Amino acid sequence: MKQASWGEGELREALCLMMIGVCIWIAGTQLGMFDYLLHFTTFHHLHDLLMLAICMSFGLVVASIRKSFKLRQAMMARDFARDRAESAARHDALTGLANRRFFKETLDGRLSKPGSAAIAVLLIDLDRFKPVNDVHGHAAGDAVLCAVADRMRALVPQGGLIARLGGDEFVVMIDYGEDSEAVPRFAQQIISALSKPVVWEQSRVEVGATIGIALGSESGSDAVSLLHAADVAMYQGKREGRGNFRFFHLDMGHALKVRARMEADLRLGIERGEIEPFYQPVVQLPGRELIGFEVLARWRHPEQGLLGPAEFIALAEETGMIADLSWALMRKACTDARSWPGHLQLAVNISPLQLQDKQLPERILAILTETGFAPGRLEIEITETALVNDLESARVALKSLQNFGVRIALDDFGTGYSSLYHLRELQFDKLKIDRSYVASIPLGEDRAKLVDAIIALGSSLGLSTTAEGIETASSVGWLADQGCTYGQGYLFGKPMNKATTDGLLTQWSDAAGNIVIAETGKDQLTLPKAVAA
Ligand code: C2E
Ligand code: CA
Ligand code: CA
Repeated sequence: MKQASWGEGELREALCLMMIGVCIWIAGTQLGMFDYLLHFTTFHHLHDLLMLAICMSFGLVVASIRKSFKLRQAMMARDFARDRAESAARHDALTGLANRRFFKETLDGRLSKPGSAAIAVLLIDLDRFKPVNDVHGHAAGDAVLCAVADRMRALVPQGGLIARLGGDEFVVMIDYGEDSEAVPRFAQQIISALSKPVVWEQSRVEVGATIGIALGSESGSDAVSLLHAADVAMYQGKREGRGNFRFFHLDMGHALKVRARMEADLRLGIERGEIEPFYQPVVQLPGRELIGFEVLARWRHPEQGLLGPAEFIALAEETGMIADLSWALMRKACTDARSWPGHLQLAVNISPLQLQDKQLPERILAILTETGFAPGRLEIEITETALVNDLESARVALKSLQNFGVRIALDDFGTGYSSLYHLRELQFDKLKIDRSYVASIPLGEDRAKLVDAIIALGSSLGLSTTAEGIETASSVGWLADQGCTYGQGYLFGKPMNKATTDGLLTQWSDAAGNIVIAETGKDQLTLPKAVAA
């Protein structure tokens, strides 16, 4: 900051102003302007010198006033810059909310005061935010974050503080006083507010929110432990389906450790090729001719044995490992299937995250080329969740795969929330009727009518249909009568490894090369007996 002493420029300026004073004095003396003024003083014999001093001092006074004015201006600018820097150090530039540092300092301050037990920390993580950035661009992402911040500002009670921790993660601190019900009520209000669409240009962008809650009374006495506890609870909420809120409790800490261990194991497992393709038969109805297999992932865990997809697919998706896992699996499956009779097809599940990969068609074609597996023998199964975020790029990717002869099936039909809409918007080759519908056929008329309607819908659109999860022979005849093209389920075979599949293929084939899964006469649920009978 500038000092009160005079700088070189200021001295020069003061000298100039004094010279101006001298000039005024010269002019004043020449014109006799001072005679009248000095007439009343007792120093009129000194009047020239006195006036010279007055004129020069006048210049000096003006210079001093200018200097102090400038000094004041500089001090104001300094204060303004300091305030801005302090505010920037405490706030998030995009949303104007507090930042992590300021939030932690404030929370620690509050926790050190009496009555801190009634403080709740809510950690809010947006669901489906990444696709907004990927699909609509960063400007849309920023607009969503700002809208989220505004909606939360409108809800947070007095004395509360909201911060953006980074990315799509926010945190709120509230003091709920005596009313402990206020916390879940507030969490639910936030979830509802953030689930409403944000209008961006011509589109409606939708995100959601999952919230983890830690209470000052239970989860620790400093900001770091409260934030950690809320984070753990939030992850639990994500695992349990998103769009919800969870309170932290101690068991969660343990669950998180188990998950971290599993994540490390899975990373290693993918590298080591522990993920194995299992094959489940798909047959034509009603004759039960084998038309191919669906590839289902299994993890041969070195300590835990054979694990099903429920144990690791969601984890692979959340940690970004799903692409590596799937491509390795597909490569193995295409290699295995090459030695099977040429008419047998292979159906592969594609995760919603993979459909967001702009290079999806190229990657699939590269694997087909590398393994020498014909595109016409491959079917890709996608679920509707894959279509919710970016229908347009899904359309482009799927169309280009279809142009190469790859078929596309809509999996788990009937479980998505807008199945009819997606059927109209995209050209599928096949519908797979979800197991929950098929299982309910024997249970009652209404559900059976629904399955009937789905099959009719499929055939009216020129699509073939596969009924999944057929366990009893009693539904086979009925499904075939309704026009269902294919069937899959334990009745025809459970998912099995390559060796078992190869063995059964030899066993099932007749001399003419037809592969028919024999009628067992009664419902059996185990393999290989059920299919080998
Ligand atoms: P999905 O694609 O609907 O696969 C069918 C699931 O139903 C398989 O479960 C299969 O074993 C089971 N299933 C088949 N027939 C019957 C039956 O008659 N009764 C009963 N109760 N179940 C039957 P699985 O193998 O546990 O796979 C579960 C889900 O995991 C799959 O559902 C699929 O969504 C996902 N998944 C499996 N492998 C992969 C993969 O490689 N990539 C991706 N992204 N997802 C996969
Ligand atoms: Ca499937
Ligand atoms: Ca399915």
